[in-house]
Amino acid sequence: MNDCIFCKIVKGEIPNITLFENEHVLSFLDIMPAAKGHALIIPKKHYATLLDMPHDELKEVIEIVQKIAVVTMAALPEFDGFNVLQSNNEVAGQVVPHVHFHVIPRQKDDKLDFAWDQGKAEMEELKKWAELVKEKME
Ligand code: AMP
Ligand code: ZN
Repeated sequence: MNDCIFCKIVKGEIPNITLFENEHVLSFLDIMPAAKGHALIIPKKHYATLLDMPHDELKEVIEIVQKIAVVTMAALPEFDGFNVLQSNNEVAGQVVPHVHFHVIPRQKDDKLDFAWDQGKAEMEELKKWAELVKEKME
């Protein structure tokens, strides 16, 4: 995809602050960070969403997500935890349509808010949802 901003980063057409790079995976700092050390991890190949990714490449990416989280926690001891965020499609808040994982360091009393209003569901309803999903499971 030619006009994809992350493809341009992979090709070196847009500068980035790289944390890690191998044949299939790139990690760089988010240019509009939610916190110090906020990192992105992407497959070098363009896939719009998680659903489009082959398993072997996804495994490589998720391993690097963990690696970035481990080294970020070690490097920035003022943080006590982190969120891994991954959004698919505009409705879910995905702005850049090239698969990416955020690693966002967290500390007590930071102003970040990923909370949602907790819903309510009866066990019978949950069972029905599970049946719908499990029907599609191979
Ligand atoms: P999302 O909202 O999950 O699609 O996240 C896209 C992220 O990409 C945002 O957090 C942006 O700040 C980040 N971003 C956009 N352009 C760049 C860029 N050129 N370099 C680094 N991060 C970027
Ligand atoms: Zn792309």
